[in-house]
Amino acid sequence: MAHKSTVVGQKKMAKQVIITGGAGFIGSHLCERLLNAGNEVLCVDNFFTGSRQNVAHLLENKNFEILRHDITFPLYVEVDEIYNLACPASPVHYQFNPAQTTKTSVMGAINMLGLAKRLRIPILQASTSEVYGDPTVHPQPETYWGNVNPIGPRACYDEGKRCAETLFFDYRRQHGLDIKVVRIFNTYGPRMHPNDGRVVSNFIVQALRNEEITVYGDGSQTRSFCYVDDLVDGMMRMMKTEKGFIGPVNLGNPGEFTILELAEMVIAMTGSKSRIVFKPLPEDDPKQRKPAIDLAEEKLGWTPKVQLEDGLKRTIEYFERVLQNE
Ligand code: NAD
Ligand code: UDP
Ligand code: UDP
Repeated sequence: MAHKSTVVGQKKMAKQVIITGGAGFIGSHLCERLLNAGNEVLCVDNFFTGSRQNVAHLLENKNFEILRHDITFPLYVEVDEIYNLACPASPVHYQFNPAQTTKTSVMGAINMLGLAKRLRIPILQASTSEVYGDPTVHPQPETYWGNVNPIGPRACYDEGKRCAETLFFDYRRQHGLDIKVVRIFNTYGPRMHPNDGRVVSNFIVQALRNEEITVYGDGSQTRSFCYVDDLVDGMMRMMKTEKGFIGPVNLGNPGEFTILELAEMVIAMTGSKSRIVFKPLPEDDPKQRKPAIDLAEEKLGWTPKVQLEDGLKRTIEYFERVLQNE
């Protein structure tokens, strides 16, 4: 992609959008939606947790391009907009090489901000509810500063993402950059990796294989689960907002469920013979999590539409197909 925007004469035809982490779970859905909206998409990914398979159905599209690249290294391209999603998101993956996780968040943010600064283009950061750590305020509003253990096993991800937010806000203050920061809460849906280790994919895969369902701790910890289509819609709305609204803004589904409730729902919906077993709770595992989404409702006119049961149904259908092809 050599030129900023496609120009025929003086007419601007399409926006060129970079999505870092575009071959991952959320990124692949975002690539698809942005292409459908008439944009040209450059998917930048090092395939650490993502795969070509996730975007295989887009390869025929002449407006789609993939670049294998690690965003801890500089990247010089000409584009109109950046969505920065590159970073492993599941605890199993981000703890596999924790120093690399922090480098991806921090050095990746610096490089993408440098790119945005050179081109004077908008940049959206995929931040996370993990910036709130194990929250002492419930539900979590954007004004809450969080409760993160800076030296625990989750810190490489949580502190990396917090530092990335700091960088975004400093580039805004120092260089007047058009930044957008969204704090994403647990998101699920098709194209989650079957071995990703996150709770929704683990439970569905275990249930479909009639294996034991592994509930960590006593299962009383809570999470709020957002279906990926709703999330992507929120991210695109955020990118479109006026320069003045920079966030951070929570994007998540405020429906709150215990992990045990989720396990029971998945067993019932799959008709599985699986039984629930209890395993030790990982260190620093947040006890509760639920987004306050008033700000997203007010500023983006966004509210999630897909109920957990509907979203789980679609995700179960996806995993049924994946497991059949194994
Ligand atoms: P994912 O692991 O499926 O996707 C991450 C992508 O980033 C992968 O394709 C991976 O290969 C790529 N990547 C990792 N390190 C890279 C690097 N150094 N250079 C280039 N590419 C790199 O995870 P996801 O669930 O799609 O998450 C996407 C983003 O959303 C992440 O930034 C994550 O922190 C954020 N997020 C996700 C959730 C969630 O519930 N899924 C919640 C909060 C925040
Ligand atoms: N950068 C990049 N692509 C660009 C412009 C910059 O990857 O198009 C990287 C560059 O390597 C630099 C970083 O972004 O290290 C931060 O850029 P900035 O201009 O803020 O800082 P400086 O170059 O002054 O260190
Ligand atoms: N969890 C679980 N069994 C699993 C995977 C996860 O009980 O097989 C729990 C995990 O301990 C946490 C919750 O489910 O309390 C959500 O975990 P996930 O890794 O999906 O996301 P995060 O902890 O980052 O919110």
